[in-house]
Amino acid sequence: MIMPNNLLRQFSLHSHEYEGKAVEVLRSGWYIMGRELEAFEKEWAEYIGSKYCVGLANGLDALKISFHLLDIKKGDEVIVCANAYIACVMGITVDGATPVFVEPDEYDNIDADKIEEAITPKTKAILAVHLYGQSCDMTKIMDLAKKYNLKVVEDCAQSHGNHWKDKKVGTFGDVACFSFYPSKGCGAFGDGGCITTDDETLAKKFRVFRNYGSEKRYYNQVIGSNSRLDEIQAGLLRVKLKHLDELNAERCRIADRYLKEIKNPLITLPKIRPNADSTWHQFVIHTGKRDELQKYLSDREIGTLIHYPIPPHLSEAYAYLGKKAGDYPITERNAQEVLSLPMYNGMTEDEQTLVINAINEFV
Ligand SMILES: *Cc1c(COP(=O)(O)O)cnc(C)c1O
Repeated sequence: MIMPNNLLRQFSLHSHEYEGKAVEVLRSGWYIMGRELEAFEKEWAEYIGSKYCVGLANGLDALKISFHLLDIKKGDEVIVCANAYIACVMGITVDGATPVFVEPDEYDNIDADKIEEAITPKTKAILAVHLYGQSCDMTKIMDLAKKYNLKVVEDCAQSHGNHWKDKKVGTFGDVACFSFYPSKGCGAFGDGGCITTDDETLAKKFRVFRNYGSEKRYYNQVIGSNSRLDEIQAGLLRVKLKHLDELNAERCRIADRYLKEIKNPLITLPKIRPNADSTWHQFVIHTGKRDELQKYLSDREIGTLIHYPIPPHLSEAYAYLGKKAGDYPITERNAQEVLSLPMYNGMTEDEQTLVINAINEFV
């Protein structure tokens, strides 16, 4: 059985280091807001190329707290790609702002050429979601943000370490949100997240907010939250970060094989935008025969996933927006056509060959 993702394989690549760190933290007697977190925040900021990093409990919190601290609320609009993950939209709507959906392009990320027509006097921000491990066109997005005086939040949950031109994603916007959910590039062994920013004042606001709104114990400046990245996760993330470039490179090698060797006229392979690279968080193909292909692969014990079967504008949670089927035809077609192939660190060449051959034999 080939699973769509296999976290045990990735763990096994460096299990002794993770086990050593876990025991070290357990024996330290200090489990929240300590040395591991401080060191990880420094190392992550350095890796991304940002001045500041603030560890948080998860990626959704990173998004929600970002929109809250940027004061984006009821009556405001935020532009986001219509095929984003639902958490992106939940971040936007935390204080009642309205998501304004823009269709994706052939790279499955927001079509930057369609953003301008979606801007209204109420638009306050663009949420740039770097979906599947590939960067949005940050040049066009930053130009528009400048022209219309908009904030830019980057969602880098699926793109730990990939680039737009010569800079890593997470260094372009006012703030960038990361998730360390186990399946993400630099995944933790539980929940985790963070933000990066170059804005010192904003970074400080995150630090205060994540800890009940206090810097000094029992002196609460704002109504905050409990959203902290604990010491064990921070310590384990430090270990994973040391290997992140090699883990990303390994997924690129698997993607290269898929791109070169999958040859089936029924299937459209993913494309990389000029100036971007991908960390291949997902390897997403398009096919008009998606459900048949998924069943066919499953019969051959090859597991696949769909990212995502229901676009946010059609999900029950966002029924109040009053959107209907047909409003975003590209997004809705993608939801019927996308399929994520098995892609994980520690995937053997034989497993890759099985996937490639199975797909090439699909008629
Ligand atoms: C995973 C993910 C999130 C949410 O992160 P959690 O840590 O699971 O809360 C947000 N946005 C995107 C694009 C994601 O992939």
